[in-house]
Amino acid sequence: MEPDLRCYYHPESEATSQCDRCGDYLCDDCVIIHDNPHLCRTCWAEVAPSQREARHLKLLSTFFYIYAVLVAVGAISEASIWLRQLNMLAGIAGSREFDQMPFTEKIHIVRSMASRFLYRLFLVVGSIIAGRSIARRERWMFCILVAAFCCGSMPFGTALGVLTIVVLVRPSVKTVFEANELDRLRSESQSR
Ligand SMILES: [Zn+2]
Ligand SMILES: [Zn+2]
Repeated sequence: MEPDLRCYYHPESEATSQCDRCGDYLCDDCVIIHDNPHLCRTCWAEVAPSQREARHLKLLSTFFYIYAVLVAVGAISEASIWLRQLNMLAGIAGSREFDQMPFTEKIHIVRSMASRFLYRLFLVVGSIIAGRSIARRERWMFCILVAAFCCGSMPFGTALGVLTIVVLVRPSVKTVFEANELDRLRSESQSR
């Protein structure tokens, strides 16, 4: 640093470094980060929130992958119950017990099995895609939808869903997704 350079904020003090972001000369008191990069107060205030958000998004992405595994494991352990029910249905099909069962009840059994299965399947596949999308900052609306679906699955799904919505609706986070989406569209139209 040349000796006659003065701090941008304190003209009476000698500058000892320069902000790597805005280029202002800084005295020792004004450098917030001393390692690489050197940052002034103003730049730090602008960069710090986005770093925090990046950390939150990374955590969310990881949580979604973990959640997908949890739901899949839960579904596998539940599969034995489903198989038993199926077996029961198959076993009693044609028997008097089954014939006497009201039609709506038969439909109800099959429908509740199918809807639970489909819900699990959606949670697993949706969570994997959401985890990947959050890491790549894309499909904002899809991630919100998956989060909303997760909310119905106590307790981990609810926690993850609420957490995800809280982070994603932050204007700064939504902007990052939108900007990224625009960049992608632009590069796609250029490559065509
Ligand atoms: Zn700066
Ligand atoms: Zn200063």
